[in-house]
Amino acid sequence: MFNRVFRRCYSQLNFLTKDRYNVKRGDFGEVTNKHIQLFEQILGRNGVLTDENDLEAYNIDWLKTVRGSSKVVVRPRNAAEVSEVLRICYQDRLAVCPQGGNTSLVGGSVPVFDEIIISTSLMNNIFLIDDIAGTISCDAGCVLEKLDSELADYGLMMPLDLGAKGSCQIGGNISTSAGGLRLLRYGSMQANTLGLQVVLANGTVLDLMNALKKDNTGYHLKQLFIGAEGTLGIVTKAVIQCPMRPKSVCLALLGLDNFKQVLETYRLAKTELTETLSSCEMMDSGCMDSVVNNLGLKSALSKHYEFYMVIETQGSREDHDQEKMETFIDKAVTAGYVTDGTYTFEPSRINNLWQLRERITESLAKNHYVYKYDLTLPLDKYYESVYAIRNRLEGTNALAVTGFGHIGDGNIHLNVQTKEFDHQVHELIEPYIFEWTSAQGGSISAEHGIGFKKAEYLPKYGKSVEAVNVMLKIKSALDPKGIMNPYKVFQTT
Ligand SMILES: Cc1cc2nc3c(=O)[nH]c(=O)nc-3n(C[C@H](O)[C@H](O)[C@H](O)COP(=O)(O)OP(=O)(O)OC[C@H]3O[C@@H](n4cnc5c(N)ncnc54)[C@H](O)[C@@H]3O)c2cc1C
Repeated sequence: MFNRVFRRCYSQLNFLTKDRYNVKRGDFGEVTNKHIQLFEQILGRNGVLTDENDLEAYNIDWLKTVRGSSKVVVRPRNAAEVSEVLRICYQDRLAVCPQGGNTSLVGGSVPVFDEIIISTSLMNNIFLIDDIAGTISCDAGCVLEKLDSELADYGLMMPLDLGAKGSCQIGGNISTSAGGLRLLRYGSMQANTLGLQVVLANGTVLDLMNALKKDNTGYHLKQLFIGAEGTLGIVTKAVIQCPMRPKSVCLALLGLDNFKQVLETYRLAKTELTETLSSCEMMDSGCMDSVVNNLGLKSALSKHYEFYMVIETQGSREDHDQEKMETFIDKAVTAGYVTDGTYTFEPSRINNLWQLRERITESLAKNHYVYKYDLTLPLDKYYESVYAIRNRLEGTNALAVTGFGHIGDGNIHLNVQTKEFDHQVHELIEPYIFEWTSAQGGSISAEHGIGFKKAEYLPKYGKSVEAVNVMLKIKSALDPKGIMNPYKVFQTT
């Protein structure tokens, strides 16, 4: 679905990241015909793309906000091929950009200059599903949704779910430490990744493919690569812990008049739905308008509200879960928190309701440039971020400032839309929003990562000087020539 959208719009994309952001190329080698021939010997002709038309989709991000100028995409099928490719790159100091499903929202997955794109798309085997231990062992290029549907036959599910599930890959999910819709119930990628295989910058294959839930043998090396955004190595395989697939799923869509009611409803959901609560999401009226007007989806509530919540329960007995959901909604209505709502156990209606939340990002980007911020904030400051940016952008070319997100994780996605990229709007938002978030004790990246777009701000508003120094020492120990995804996470190359 996402690639079709890309293809239609290529011709309008005439900017390059390096010019828009004024970046200087690092001191890396350049790809020559000799390199292309070597790659073809390793990967075969189909494993190496050099045609300009083929390269476009790999050079441009999902939001169409950053664009590199790589001349070659390599598509290895296993760790041995990744290793051979990286050995050549390391020897000649050729910079590389690992790419999974290319759904990064922070410009992490596309090159800034001419980095070689190493795509994991052809690495898509499932090796083992263990339905007693509850684990799946697979290649990094497996698409998240495909893994989840394979697990269904074993009564298991992926612990992670997100709007990009049809395109994003498990290697990309691990490398960004993706959060998603059910982190509140099933935990993070740090918690659910049991084992990894990683190829380091110099081609060394590091085997950490452990399926054990408990293993305290020294440093937990795998954790280094979870959330490293391709700057330390390429994840080639993983073992993921998978929860049981629920027998009963219920989804509620609620309409609320103000943000205080959103917080009260979240508190009540935790109290009343307890062990069945699996997701607690919020969206403001601008987001609902966007999915309805730009994608033609139907709201499911007859009136328009300032805020909406999507609340999911997962359990094992529908009658039990229904009783809990009804009690929760009754109490929420009686207390005056919720004005209107609907809930369902029917799978196709659940799917329709989820679309309203999952497709917000797609709807906001339709025909617009979107400045997207992914913040964790104390709950009392959560929606203030939207008001702060609205005030700041009054009288500019900004068309709308909206917020939605994983309220149960304190994570808001703040969005500003303009017709096209606008320097004045950009400079009014950044670094202000990062400074503001840091002053509230929040995080400038809840789940999308630092990527290219926030690299400048990591040492100022993300981590302390000491923490960044330790990160840089780890980076230079594992990647002394700095070839792994330069310009990302750290501003230095
Ligand atoms: C509609 C939509 C909804 C989204 N919702 C969420 C959400 O709810 N929660 C969330 O956390 N994110 C969300 N995202 C962001 C994105 O989907 C995640 O960051 C996802 O994990 C990226 O996976 P990917 O395979 O597309 O990786 P890519 O975008 O290809 O890459 C992401 C980063 O990881 C690196 N990388 C990729 N594969 C590897 C590998 N095998 N080894 C080493 N490095 C690698 C890349 O270099 C890049 O830095 C959403 C995106 C979209 C478009």
